[in-house]
Amino acid sequence: MKKTKRIISFISALAVMSGMLCGCTPDSAKETSAEPAAAHQVLDVSAIRAQDDFYGYINAEHLLGTLPAYGEMTWGTFEEVDAQTVQEVLGLISEIVTSEEEYEPGSAEYLIKNVYDQAMAFDDNKAVYSEIRSLCDKINSVGSIGELMELWKKLYRSYGANTPFVPTVRQNYFKSGEFALLIDQSKGMCGNSYEDILGSDEACISMKNYMRDMLMAISYDKDTADSKAKQAVYLALEIARSTDFSAGKAANPFAAFEFVSEEDMNGIFSNLDTSVVKLFFGLDENTYGGWYVKDRGQLEKMNEMMTEENLESWKTILISELVTANMEFLSTEADSLSEYGSGEEKEYSVCVNTIASNLFFVNDLSALYAEKYYTAEADAAVREMCEQLRQSYRELISGADWLTEDGRKALLKKLDNMRFILPDAAVSETDPTRAELIKESYPQTLHAIRERSYDDNIGNIGAKFDMTRPIMATYEVNANYNPNNTVTITAAIMHAPFFDPKADIGTNLGGLGAIIGHEMGHGFDTMCMDYNENGEYAPDWLSDTDRNAFVERAEKMQGYFSDYTVLDIYHVDGKKTSGENYADLGSMECIVNILKDDKVELKKYFENYAVTYAETRVDSYAIDALESDEHSPGKVRINAVLSNCEMFYEIYNIKEGDGMYCAPEERVSRW
Ligand SMILES: [Zn+2]
Repeated sequence: MKKTKRIISFISALAVMSGMLCGCTPDSAKETSAEPAAAHQVLDVSAIRAQDDFYGYINAEHLLGTLPAYGEMTWGTFEEVDAQTVQEVLGLISEIVTSEEEYEPGSAEYLIKNVYDQAMAFDDNKAVYSEIRSLCDKINSVGSIGELMELWKKLYRSYGANTPFVPTVRQNYFKSGEFALLIDQSKGMCGNSYEDILGSDEACISMKNYMRDMLMAISYDKDTADSKAKQAVYLALEIARSTDFSAGKAANPFAAFEFVSEEDMNGIFSNLDTSVVKLFFGLDENTYGGWYVKDRGQLEKMNEMMTEENLESWKTILISELVTANMEFLSTEADSLSEYGSGEEKEYSVCVNTIASNLFFVNDLSALYAEKYYTAEADAAVREMCEQLRQSYRELISGADWLTEDGRKALLKKLDNMRFILPDAAVSETDPTRAELIKESYPQTLHAIRERSYDDNIGNIGAKFDMTRPIMATYEVNANYNPNNTVTITAAIMHAPFFDPKADIGTNLGGLGAIIGHEMGHGFDTMCMDYNENGEYAPDWLSDTDRNAFVERAEKMQGYFSDYTVLDIYHVDGKKTSGENYADLGSMECIVNILKDDKVELKKYFENYAVTYAETRVDSYAIDALESDEHSPGKVRINAVLSNCEMFYEIYNIKEGDGMYCAPEERVSRW
């Protein structure tokens, strides 16, 4: 496409303002802008025409009053709903902990209430401090790397000390219904990211100072702590240099994993063999015959560094991780930790927040949240909407004459098999053995909870992956398509403006409808096309003819989106955002097909759709996100998509020369 569209006027005006507030606007972004003055002065929101910038026309006034808070990178509709949901979750916990009711041992309420009571009553730093110190003595007395790893595993399981590599048991995306052993890429150590330390001396120094302070907390003198921390940073830098940062940012989060057999893994961990890997997975034997790894080079480097001459540095790292994970118990006994915000008084709000952010309670809180906020009325309305969307997709796919007959049949089958996982799938069963997690004291209870979480995760090895279980907390403002051909919709995303059972059909379709339509659309994006009608990995599922037809259409669309820019000069990466743009485009076509020529409801749909992805971003984030986020910026998600919609042109009287105008031959279509 020849014409370059500009997505600037509104977003950059806001972004520059908020960027200045946060002090993080890169000068280059302003100076090299083609029309800096014009671009950055659009504050007269009434002058924005729907025909030129529909997104700005709908959202400008509201967004001007909601710049990102200090320190935040972005703010928008999702964040607004999220803030409301957080209050609801905290309210839920409050109700439980202030109630006089006797809860059944092992129930969600029983655990929450007891953990809260213990947290509030905790005031003994001394005992925990001496416990951590004696663990550090133990670390220091270790004589070999192998021994250190054994101790590390124990401290990881019970005390939350992060490990050099990240062992997880998760859904196997390549074998339907199974779990897989994954070794994810490590992002960094001791709360400092590899990418940061590689990019700046300042970050290295701050990592060094951080580790030094952790060591000083267990009574190393400053000089010794400083020199030990320096050595550990050198080790971290070595690993950082061998880290493939693009693997961490891949648009397809699981295609980045490669399967490594047991034998191959012995080669990667040549210094310690696979026993070190098995150790962290709590295994004597790997029943899957291997592991999925995300960054082989990083693991090879870790292995290379796991030699006796680096033993002291690994000890420093383990001590730092151990102190970090237990900082909340140590503060008053350790001066060097005071600046890390530890030792907050155990007051009501701190304790409630602690429970809300503990992953152990996700299922419990999900079930409680759904019970309270997910109504039968919403359930019926959302289920009806899902079926409406399915029917519309059925029509679109049936009418896609560029597919072969077999291809069309296959896609329709996949659509029919698609399952919706709604909030009522969130369950928390009362399990009497969970009552035993409540120990004598708060720190002991937290150890028991950590151990239980670890054991539960490891316990999935060899188990069947339940395809009907929700894969995220239902109090998360989100929805998701899983390649196993399920769409999860949370209760939290059923808030206005996304959804209200009493709202008009067009309004609900513009919010939650567009979101569900988007997730369903992922079932047919380039990545999920490798999964057959049953959600099983089968890359040869579709014929080459159909696949090539998809690729051809996708390429045109990639070019179309790449022409959009942020801050005048930074182009959207059409290739990287391809899957998400495809989903957005499909969702729009699906909904317009439902509303046909009902202009009243279509108008409500367009308007609420624009609200759904309303956001402001600080400049630096707006630029970074082009690389780190597989979604297009909110403004592009609205304007670029609607510029392809015939009914949009008709309703808003879009003409050649308008900002929203795109010549018919340049438009793209999903179906
Ligand atoms: Zn998506």
